[in-house]
Amino acid sequence: MMDFDNDDWDFDTLAVRAGQHRTGEHEHAEPIFPTSSYVFDSAAQAAARFRGDEPGNIYSRFTNPTVRTFEERLAALEGGARCVATASGMSAILATVMGLLQAGDHIVSSRAIFGSTVVLFNKYVKPFGVDVDFVPLTDLSAWEAALRPETKLLFLETPSNPLTEIADIRALAELAHAHGCKLVVDNAFCTPALQRPLALGADIVIHSATKYIDGQGRCVGGAVVGDAEAVGEGVFGFLRTAGPSMSPFNAWVFLKGLETLRLRMEAHSANALRLARFLEAHPAVETVLYPGLPSHPQHELAKVQQSGFGGIVSFVVHGGREGAWTVVDHTRLCSITANLGDTKTTITHPATTTHGRLSDEERAEAGIADGLIRVAVGLESVADIEKDLARGLEKI
Ligand SMILES: *Cc1c(COP(=O)(O)O)cnc(C)c1O
Repeated sequence: MMDFDNDDWDFDTLAVRAGQHRTGEHEHAEPIFPTSSYVFDSAAQAAARFRGDEPGNIYSRFTNPTVRTFEERLAALEGGARCVATASGMSAILATVMGLLQAGDHIVSSRAIFGSTVVLFNKYVKPFGVDVDFVPLTDLSAWEAALRPETKLLFLETPSNPLTEIADIRALAELAHAHGCKLVVDNAFCTPALQRPLALGADIVIHSATKYIDGQGRCVGGAVVGDAEAVGEGVFGFLRTAGPSMSPFNAWVFLKGLETLRLRMEAHSANALRLARFLEAHPAVETVLYPGLPSHPQHELAKVQQSGFGGIVSFVVHGGREGAWTVVDHTRLCSITANLGDTKTTITHPATTTHGRLSDEERAEAGIADGLIRVAVGLESVADIEKDLARGLEKI
């Protein structure tokens, strides 16, 4: 048999095998298909493909075998019927909005979402007549109060960035469905290795594959996972027409990333938990925000909703901005960059980078303290990461 059937296998098996369709060359590893178009056997076949009467490839803006393998594998891991791969995480969000909404519709979104998503909603989605309201992630009554008859989507990330707040996906899915809306969860921080939003009632999962799915900071890409109608028709329809498609090379890198995703996410989580405990015990640290700590306000929810706590640890040091910069500037191992989901540990000071353009008031409202530092814990020796942070912490 040339195709791997996706039925009834465990997560680890699907991560390695799902979506592979071996060609007549009998290759063991998945091939890359760098081709923009496909050849037909006859004029009649070409006509049938274009009419949609016969399935098959036409053009790589629509479908490509390497991209399809990535899509089928990620769909299997998230437990969704369909996955559409996109050029970036941002184009996954854009394709979802464009594919499912029209002027007059309304989105209720968590306030604590990726900065570019806020800009996308405010600067580009709103002028096309789709209104967006922002609410605090963990305040269920605020979500309910923001609903209007024309609300179509609820949008969130959990854990949030950089404060690691946890949304109750099941409760928000119930709220969404009671009002005829879909719940969209950006699952870039946990990945299906640690959290499967569709199984908790969410309708659509969004990914920035750039982060943990790649896992080694090489390629930019994204994906939308969900049912055959919303994703297979709505989102795919926009993608094939507008063209923010994933390249076959990037799809190949991501699908190789999926094979080791669970092992990496567990290693990121283990390193992060150890670092969080180290920081919590350090006298120069005011607070540590990590869902794996019993001191985290939603620790119990994180324990039931996620199978691991992820790789992002945030903490507030004494001494405000000066204290935080002291820690950042004394690192020799951590990379000073806002990216995350890499084997290499990264460190950022949100108040002066990702949230630097907010006013002091907006920053306070978003809970971004001057002493806040976010670390995306990589796969280096955690003892070395601790040593790297301790150098600056001892100077405070
Ligand atoms: C990075 C990121 C995005 C955007 O993804 P790109 O691949 O950079 O376009 C969206 N959501 C979250 C949570 C992210 O971390």
